[in-house]
Amino acid sequence: MTRVFNFSAGPAALPESVLRKAADEMLDWHGSGMSVMEMSHRGKEFISIANEAEALLRELLAVPANYKVLFMQGGAIAENAIVPMNMLRGKASADYIDTGEWSKKSIKEAQKYATVNVAASAKASNYTTIPARADWKLNPDAAYVHICSNETIGGVEYHFTPDTGSVPLVADMSSDILSRPVDVSKYGLIYAGAQKNIGPSGLTLVIVRDDLIGQAIPATPSAFDYKTVADNESMYNTPPTYAIYIAGLVFHWIKDQGGLAAMEAHNKAKAAVLYDFLDTTSFYSCPVARDCRSLMNVPFRLKDEALDEAFLKGAQARKMVQLKGHRSVGGMRASIYNAMPIEGVQALVAYMKEFEAQHG
Ligand SMILES: *Cc1c(COP(=O)(O)O)cnc(C)c1O
Repeated sequence: MTRVFNFSAGPAALPESVLRKAADEMLDWHGSGMSVMEMSHRGKEFISIANEAEALLRELLAVPANYKVLFMQGGAIAENAIVPMNMLRGKASADYIDTGEWSKKSIKEAQKYATVNVAASAKASNYTTIPARADWKLNPDAAYVHICSNETIGGVEYHFTPDTGSVPLVADMSSDILSRPVDVSKYGLIYAGAQKNIGPSGLTLVIVRDDLIGQAIPATPSAFDYKTVADNESMYNTPPTYAIYIAGLVFHWIKDQGGLAAMEAHNKAKAAVLYDFLDTTSFYSCPVARDCRSLMNVPFRLKDEALDEAFLKGAQARKMVQLKGHRSVGGMRASIYNAMPIEGVQALVAYMKEFEAQHG
């Protein structure tokens, strides 16, 4: 068996030790005689799995006691609707910061439910920057301020937590959650699809402050009303049980690595290998402004896009896969989430140098 270095933007690589443990436990979880997939979500075995996953997540992110952790479904894209349905709380409008493809999607969906004020946009820089907080035109009566903390496609990431005063800050953290410590108390709500840094697709994580729930618009589906989900401990409907189990194994793995501070140090070291190289060559280029570069998703271009295909083929032959950039931006993208070892990034840079020597 050979494992590849998988640079996929999502679903993304998982830690090999997590996959091995899941394989070991596949037929018989802890002497239960069952696979986790076969368990009742209301049985004591699965309840212990779900409780432990939540406890570990709370520990890793130091989630304050007045926040609920919800395991939902529908992905971050469903949250684009679920957030306004729940968070408008009788108000008419919400502020959104436009930093690229994912925030544009959030804005478009929210417009079905609310008056959306785009309080700042990085459009003028072709989405290669994060607008400075000083330039945001926030509405003090907004129900919330929405950001995308890491734009998975464009490769820009917030390296600050914006202060929004008494207006709750809502963040789509799908592609950088658990990559670094976060002060949860600065947010009203955090949501993330699982398939980048948490586990299998099909699970959506929501962390929300208690006082913000319970005022969903009446037409909100019960399964998407944060109050219903919270009151039923994420078991109003059958949760994605296997995905929650794998997420728990990933949380354990992160803890074993030293927690989020260690994760951040590791992610900075990995990203530096790639960005430092990109800054020394004119054969490759990275469009993103230095102070907004993502530690998770690194977009880059070859000088001559006619070489793209040969580059990808050579990478594949060296067991490096999924480096093709998103169809909307072209070029390349290396997604280097928590589970990508530094050896993978070093192998990529070695190959990039080799390719440049041949074609430069
Ligand atoms: C992947 C991603 C999404 C979409 O998640 P789904 O699970 O497909 O709904 C949304 N936002 C960001 C920032 C993402 O990276």
